[in-house]
Amino acid sequence: MTLTIKKLTGGYTGITVIKDINLKIESGQVVGLIGLNGAGKSTTIKHLLGLLRMQRGEITLNGIDLVQNPAAFKKNVAYIPETPILYPELTLKEHIELVILAYGLDHDSAYEHALHLCKLFRLENKLDWLPINFSKGMKQKVMIVAGFLAQSSLLVIDEPFTGLDPLAVANFIDLVKAASNDGKMVLMTTHVLAEAQEIVDKFAVLNNGTIEKEGNLTEIRKFYGLKDTDSFDR
Ligand code: ATP
Repeated sequence: MTLTIKKLTGGYTGITVIKDINLKIESGQVVGLIGLNGAGKSTTIKHLLGLLRMQRGEITLNGIDLVQNPAAFKKNVAYIPETPILYPELTLKEHIELVILAYGLDHDSAYEHALHLCKLFRLENKLDWLPINFSKGMKQKVMIVAGFLAQSSLLVIDEPFTGLDPLAVANFIDLVKAASNDGKMVLMTTHVLAEAQEIVDKFAVLNNGTIEKEGNLTEIRKFYGLKDTDSFDR
């Protein structure tokens, strides 16, 4: 599988924010999208998720245009947002059932998988809880459970390291590694290079709406003259 973003140009009504973004993600590859606040990371992701209409460009998965094929998009893409999106009237168990239904997963094996994921994030005793009872970090964990449960070819993750406790970060990293070993593609935005370096194969640095540099952590640190700093701040 290959996700190809070609000359993606877009933004908001009357404003062009990202220009000629080219990015390739291969099967098993974990790509980190980094850049300062306002560089265009979220805008790029919103275009990839079809939440904004692009002005120009192409987003294809194995040659299939994801913008023109909502069915292919729905089947192949899962998203873990930085700000959790949960239905206030649905319990954790009902959220799990919704993901199983939405992605057309085999119910029994998917539910077992969900219970395993819930255990990793200490949510297994909270299946009948409503979102109002969860802390912000717990909600983020629910989104992570849902994202990995979907088993989609491409997992898009926004700022996964903010707000998670160290055990959750370690479990999250293991899940990304397993997904990558399983041939899935992962695109994540992050500022936290120290944790990302364990899993990210390639970083793409956005600056002012364009990709300024691509490379592994050593290449990125060298290019920007970064020392062993945790965050991308140049
Ligand atoms: P951060 O690290 O702060 O999340 P980012 O790299 O994700 O930043 P974006 O949110 O993509 O950056 O913002 C890129 C540019 O688009 C900024 O100049 C921002 O002001 C602008 N922008 C973001 N959202 C909107 C919007 N809804 N309407 C108009 N402009 C927007």
